[in-house]
Amino acid sequence: MSGSTETELREGVLSAARAMNAHGLNRGTAGNVSARCRDGFLVTPTGMSYDESLAEDIVFVRMDGSWDGARQPSSEWRFHRDVYEARAEAGAILHAHSPFATSLACLNCDIPPFHYMIARFGGNSIRCAEYATFGTQELSENVVAALRGRCACLLANHGMLVFGRDLRRVLDLAIEFETLCEQFWRARQIGAPVLLSDAEMSRVLEKFAHYGQQGPRAADSRGGSRSTSESRWSI
Ligand code: 13P
Ligand code: ZN
Repeated sequence: MSGSTETELREGVLSAARAMNAHGLNRGTAGNVSARCRDGFLVTPTGMSYDESLAEDIVFVRMDGSWDGARQPSSEWRFHRDVYEARAEAGAILHAHSPFATSLACLNCDIPPFHYMIARFGGNSIRCAEYATFGTQELSENVVAALRGRCACLLANHGMLVFGRDLRRVLDLAIEFETLCEQFWRARQIGAPVLLSDAEMSRVLEKFAHYGQQGPRAADSRGGSRSTSESRWSI
C-alpha cells in the first residue's frame, strides 16, 4: 500500500476485512485488520460488521494508544501497536478466528515442520502464543514473543495472527496459513505426520529468501528494491 492516500488505505483495510470473511477465514465481527499509516496505524472498529462499516469507521490509532474519530478501535489495538513497534517490516496485520488455525490453537501446541510451507512464515515451526484474555497487554506481549523470527502465530484458545508487507500480501499469507493448518489437521486425522529435519527446513528457509518475484525487474516495476528483511520470507 506504499504510495496510497489515507482514504485508499482506509478502503483497503475495510476491503481486506470483508475479504477475510468472504474467504471463510473469519465470521461475524470477530477478528480485525490494520495497516501502518503515518506515525500509527488504521484499524477496524471494535464489534462492527465489516459489511456495514464505512471507510470513515476505520480508526486511526497512534503508537501511544490515543485515537481519532467517533468509533472505538478494535479491542486488540494493543497487539497491532506492539507488532508494528517490534517489527519494522510489518505493513499490515490480520487477526482472525479462522476454523482450522483456531481448532489447533485450542490444543495450545506449536505446529511442527510437517510441511515445507511452514518455512514460509519464517522458521521451522509456527508458535502458539500463550493464552491471555483478549484485548490485554499480556496477550499482546505473548503474541510479540510468539512472532519472534516469524510473521504468523497461533493464539491459544483464540485464533491466529499474520503480518505482511501490505494488505494484499497479508490476506494471501492468511489464506496460505489457514490452508496449512487445515492440512495439518487432516494429516493428524489419518496418522502421525512425518516431520522434516532441521537441516531440510534450513534449506527451505534459504530458498524462501529468494522465492517469488524478487528480481530487479519485479523491484523496478514497483519503483524500488526491497530490503533484505522484507524479502526474507517473501512477505
Ligand atoms: P474487535 O471487534 O474488538 O476487533 O474484537 C474481535 C476479536 O477478535 C478480539 O480478539
Ligand atoms: Zn480475536
